[in-house]
Amino acid sequence: ASRFADVAQAPPDPILGVSEAFRASTNPNKLNLGVGAYRDEDLKPVVLNVVKKAEGNIFSRNENKEYLSIEGLEGFRRATVDLLLGQGHPAIQEGRVAAIQSLSGTGSLRVGAAFIARFLKGATVYISNPTWGNHRNIFGDEGVEWKHYRYFDAATVGLDFKGLTEDLTAAPPGSVVLLHGCAHNPTGVDPTPEQWAAIADLCKERNLLPFFDVAYQGFATGDLDKDAFAPRLFVERGLEILVSQSYSKNLGLYGERVGALVMVVQDKESATRCLSQLKRLARALYSNPPTHGAKIAAEVVNNKELFDEWKVEMRGMAGRIERVRGELQAALEAKCPQKDWSFITRQIGMFSFTGLSPAQVDNMTNKHAVYMTRDGRISLAGLNSAKVEYLADAIVDSVR
Ligand code: PMP
Repeated sequence: ASRFADVAQAPPDPILGVSEAFRASTNPNKLNLGVGAYRDEDLKPVVLNVVKKAEGNIFSRNENKEYLSIEGLEGFRRATVDLLLGQGHPAIQEGRVAAIQSLSGTGSLRVGAAFIARFLKGATVYISNPTWGNHRNIFGDEGVEWKHYRYFDAATVGLDFKGLTEDLTAAPPGSVVLLHGCAHNPTGVDPTPEQWAAIADLCKERNLLPFFDVAYQGFATGDLDKDAFAPRLFVERGLEILVSQSYSKNLGLYGERVGALVMVVQDKESATRCLSQLKRLARALYSNPPTHGAKIAAEVVNNKELFDEWKVEMRGMAGRIERVRGELQAALEAKCPQKDWSFITRQIGMFSFTGLSPAQVDNMTNKHAVYMTRDGRISLAGLNSAKVEYLADAIVDSVR
């Protein structure tokens, strides 16, 4: 018998497992609204034009495949901090930003979790309820204790700001608060600017460390600066922050694993020391980050022409999602006027949190071949106009 005979079967991932089930389905009407990956109006994956152009430029330079330094590609590190804080931000000029290129959002969060485990010993990480499912794995696997703070109010399909405030006020000083920078996953519900300011003040008063997960910059509103409002506000208010950034969605670089962990701290000396420790952690985790995707991102951000074209393409993606949101809401209002569907266009980003129960989701999948996560989240990136009626019928059948 194998020495591994006692290794138990791990459960399928709640999000990526949906894609596996979708692929296995032979239903011609099947619809994959599980994973948050952008699709065009033909529901095909998209490679952005600016990415193709950037790759053309990169290939023409005939570069080698040597290792990057542990902290990653210089041009990418500068670009990613510029995108986050805005070019020429005082914190950049003062040298108090530490940035390490890492393995997309997930890898950057994991390096952050490792940093917390090593240097903020005993700190608890507060995670919104609900949240992207992998947050729990990332901190849990690093041995970092995590707890939920209240976030979503099912009655209003909005933010439970009172619950959030109470839970963060009760958190022990020195705790870490994980915040979604914009386009909260899975709810699509973000704090208002005033609420963000109140959360920043609360973090300051209670000595909590904000850790922003920025996976959708440019994807929420179609505007890179607007979507960076929250982390910029926190820095403006004098808070030290951690940020993980991902280029999976906004540049469509999912499989290239492009991202960064950024720390904005009080002074240059701390930034230098923190970066040295981030490098030490990364060295043992994966040694150095991949080259290709970082070169693409740097090429796009640092080339004015490509940068402007990227913004147009990003608005195009955000706009298509907004449009199908509107169409889905209208179809549901027509088919089921006794229910309030206005939450669909109030929510922002890639997802709609439908409020469907696990049993209703099972009906969506088993009867209608609509594949989605059991928390009731649907990715609008996987929907097109042609499928709106079909989806609306399936939802109405499932909520009845
Ligand atoms: N955070 C959130 C909230 C996400 O939705 C995602 C992508 N699903 C990520 C992080 C990280 O994704 P990636 O590792 O592909 O950058």
